[in-house]
Amino acid sequence: MGDQTLWRSIIAELQPNIKKADLLVWFQGTGILSVADNKVVIGLPSIFAQEWFNKRYKTLIFDALKKLGHGVEEVEFMIDSSLIEENGEGIDMRDFLNTGKKNKSRKLPKKQEVKYTFSGKQQDSVTSKFINPKYRLDNFVIGSDNRLAHAACSAVAKKPGGAYNPLFVYGDVGLGKTHLLQGTGNAILENFRDMVVVYGSAEKFTNEIVDAIKKNDVKGFRNRYRRADCLIIDDIQFLAKKSRTQEEFFHTFNELYDDNKQIIISSDKPPKELEGIEDRLVSRFEMGMIVDVNFPDVETCLAILHKKCQEMEVLIPNEVLEFISNNTTNSIRELEGVLVQAIAQAQLENSTPTVNSVAKIMKKLGKINLVTNPEHFQSSAKRVTTADDLIEVVTQYYKLERDDIVSAKRSRDIMIPRQICMYLLRKEFNFSFEKIGEEFGGRNHTTAMHAYNKMVKDLKDDHVLVKDMNAIKREIGL
Ligand code: ADP
Ligand code: MG
Repeated sequence: MGDQTLWRSIIAELQPNIKKADLLVWFQGTGILSVADNKVVIGLPSIFAQEWFNKRYKTLIFDALKKLGHGVEEVEFMIDSSLIEENGEGIDMRDFLNTGKKNKSRKLPKKQEVKYTFSGKQQDSVTSKFINPKYRLDNFVIGSDNRLAHAACSAVAKKPGGAYNPLFVYGDVGLGKTHLLQGTGNAILENFRDMVVVYGSAEKFTNEIVDAIKKNDVKGFRNRYRRADCLIIDDIQFLAKKSRTQEEFFHTFNELYDDNKQIIISSDKPPKELEGIEDRLVSRFEMGMIVDVNFPDVETCLAILHKKCQEMEVLIPNEVLEFISNNTTNSIRELEGVLVQAIAQAQLENSTPTVNSVAKIMKKLGKINLVTNPEHFQSSAKRVTTADDLIEVVTQYYKLERDDIVSAKRSRDIMIPRQICMYLLRKEFNFSFEKIGEEFGGRNHTTAMHAYNKMVKDLKDDHVLVKDMNAIKREIGL
C-alpha cells in the first residue's frame, strides 16, 4: 500500500503553487500507490486526471519530492478508482484543506467495486479475478453501434460454450468493451452459480506467466486458468510480441475450447489486423463470433449520460447532458469523465453544472474540440433577439399559430401565451410598453402594461404558469 503521509507532504509542498479550486477538484481521492526502485506511482481516479497530472503537475511533484529529500527518478500516474471508494486510501481534499465541509465531499461518485471470489466450485483467492459488479449487460445502453456486440454477449451469457465461441469483441479504447466483457461475466455468474468465471486483462495474464516462470510454477498457473468454465481476457493486443505468453495462451485456449468452455476476448483491432500475434492464435480468434463496438450516435450518448446520472443519483439539466454528448466524439469514457468532473466540481462549489461550467471543464481538459460553442448551443435555433423570435418560441411551445397571438382574439388559451410574450419582452428584453403594443398588431401601450402586471401577479400563485414560464425561459436560454 502507498505512503499517504508522503502524499500529504507533497501536496503541502504544492499548495502555494496550485489554486485551491484546482486542488479540490484534481487531488480529491488521489494517493500514492507505491514507492519503490526510485519510482513513485500515484493513483488517480480517472483517465482525465491522468492526462491533467501528466501535463500540469508532474514537474511540480518531482520538485516537491526532491525538496522532501526523495531521490526519485520517475513519477508515474495510474488510474485506480478504489482510492475514492468509501474506505479508500485516497486523500479527502476538503479535510486536507480544512474547508469545514468535509462530510459532503465523499458523496460522489459512488463507486462500489466489490471483489468477487469466483464462484461455486472453488473459492481460492488465486483463481479469483476481479469483476466489477457495476458493469452489467442490463445497464449497457444499446444503440445501433453496439447492438450486435451486446446481443452476442447476451447470447453467450445464456449459453456459455455454445454457438459463439470464442467471442471476440473489438473496438477503440473507451467504447465499452470491458463493460461488455465484465457484464457478460457477471451475467454468467448469476445464471450459472456453479461456473467458474475467470476474468483478467492480457497484461495480468502476462505478468502471471512471467511470475510463474520465475517461481518455477507454470503448472500452478496452468491449473488456475484451465479450471475456468468461462475465460475472459481483456485487451488481447497486449500479448503482441510476447511469444512465451502467446504460447501459453494458445495451449490454454485450446484446452478450454476443446472442452466446450467459453472464451471471450477483447481487442482494439479485429483479429486479422493484430500485429505481433501469431497466426495460429489469430486463426483461433476467428473461429467463433467477431463483433465490433463503435462510437455511438448523439442520442445513444445522451441515453448513456442519463443512465450514469441515474446510477450516481444526481440530477443534471438536460441541456448540460446534451452539450456533453454533442461535444464528445472519441470515447464513452471521455463522455463519462466530463460528466463526473462536472458533478464533482459542482458539488464542491455547491452549485448545479451548467453548459458554461461544463464547457470550461472540457476546454481545460484540452482534449475536446468544442463542436458547438456554449453560447450557440444554448440558443441554437432558439436565439432570441427580436419580438418575432420570442413569439415563435412561445407559439411553438403552445402549438399555436403566430397569427393567433398577434391577433385580437381573446380566448384564454391565446391570451395567456400572448401575455407571456409581452411580459418577457418587457422584463427580459427591456422593450417599452409602446413598442410591445406595436409588435402586437398596433395595440395601445396600456394593453401591454396590463398584461405585464397580470403576469407579475399570476406568477405568484399560478404553478402551471410558473412552470410554463420557466420552460419558455429555458428555451430561450435565460
Ligand atoms: P473499453 O474497455 O472499450 O476501453 P470501457 O468498457 O472501459 O471501454 O468503457 C468506458 C466507460 O464507458 C465505462 O465506464 C462504461 O461503463 C461506459 N460505457 C461504454 N459503453 C457504454 C454503454 N453502451 N452503456 C453504458 N455505459 C457504457
Ligand atoms: Mg477496456
